[in-house]
Amino acid sequence: MNDRIALNKRPTELDMSVQRKFVILDRDGVINHDSALYIKSPEEWRPIAGSLEAISALVQAGIEVAVVSNQSAIGRGLISEEMLKSIHMKMSREVEKAGGRIAGIYYCPHHPSDACDCRKPALGMIKRLEHEHGILVKGMPLIGDKPTDIELAKRAGARPILVRTGYGENSLDSIDRSVAVYENLACAVKALLAEGTT
Ligand SMILES: [Mg+2]
Ligand SMILES: [Zn+2]
Repeated sequence: MNDRIALNKRPTELDMSVQRKFVILDRDGVINHDSALYIKSPEEWRPIAGSLEAISALVQAGIEVAVVSNQSAIGRGLISEEMLKSIHMKMSREVEKAGGRIAGIYYCPHHPSDACDCRKPALGMIKRLEHEHGILVKGMPLIGDKPTDIELAKRAGARPILVRTGYGENSLDSIDRSVAVYENLACAVKALLAEGTT
């Protein structure tokens, strides 16, 4: 009933003090194995070893997990939005089986030539995440395998982290040295949890 108020509400400094903790994850090449031919069915969605357990470890530590993913396979006519949703149902199910939970999945369905405002590194998905959860991602870890993920993190004021899985090895040359690099999501999460500050 307070929908209008909720929609108009913007995160403030006051909210920041009680802000929930999030880690923002890219999907392909971070949670699941990527494919140059795109992930086109639930069967093609295969988790990278340790990634489901890593998400679970975050959730057990009181940190929420959101996914932001470019899915131009839709804009390219390779899969339907319904198919993407069934892929994400599988992902959510697998994460839950491992004891975790994904608080939000955001995707850009557009073709790169659409010049939309949500395809990474544009900030559209981050703004939706902030709006829907009443948070600011400033300072929160954002983990990806491509330079666009790192660029997105920087634009959002988030903390960029690169993993070597997926296209990560290829991304190393085009990111600056200040970006933390880990072998995979499991290693990145282990390091974050060891800090105790996330
Ligand atoms: Mg990726
Ligand atoms: Zn888009």
